[in-house]
Amino acid sequence: MALVHADSSQAASALRLAMLAAARTLSAQGLNRGATGNIGVRCGASFLVTPSGVPAEDLTPESMVAMDFSGATLGPGKPSSEWRFHRDILAARPEMGAVVHTHSRFATVLACLQRELPAFHYMIAVAGGDSIRCTPYAIFGSQELSSLALQALQNRKACLLGNHGMIALGVDLADALAVAVEVESLCEQYWAALQLGQPNILSASQMQAVLEKFKGYGRAQDPQSEPAALASHQGVTKA
Ligand SMILES: [Zn+2]
Repeated sequence: MALVHADSSQAASALRLAMLAAARTLSAQGLNRGATGNIGVRCGASFLVTPSGVPAEDLTPESMVAMDFSGATLGPGKPSSEWRFHRDILAARPEMGAVVHTHSRFATVLACLQRELPAFHYMIAVAGGDSIRCTPYAIFGSQELSSLALQALQNRKACLLGNHGMIALGVDLADALAVAVEVESLCEQYWAALQLGQPNILSASQMQAVLEKFKGYGRAQDPQSEPAALASHQGVTKA
């Protein structure tokens, strides 16, 4: 079946399939339930966003909605009501290729308290700094929410949306998905630690050291395994 959309290139078709897989992953991992949450992916000079109100199990590659940066749709379908922040983030952050939005449980719990995540764990650096900020509340789909999200995402790959959920960014969809999963995990850990008392917060210099070490990774990866680049610096020199 040939797509006759404005984005009917091979690359766009691959992105549509990747979005479908990501939406199903978010649903399977419990990060999104029902038709909540949405995904936006840069596609050349335009972008694709998941459709409005369609549960993951009913999505198809063709149901992803192509849009341009003026906010006009380039094909059939009604875009997610949150298309504005997808557009604005992809426009403001040229280094990012994908945006994942979830109403995942623990991120949303903290968002409902409008509580930012401090550096209670070094993995907070996955989001690019020593905190994950939370926006004040603004109604879904609004330009106000989009503007607040952009502010909270300054120098970050993730933020919480007050009384709403979370946004995670990535250089590509796999990266954004990994950040979303990690942020949800951090929110759960922070929530649990708060049950027992006040977590120890890492200092600015401790977090700076983590951020420096993460730079060598290039992407959000599991720092438990030493990266090959780092190992080769410290490892055996060639005879
Ligand atoms: Zn939402």
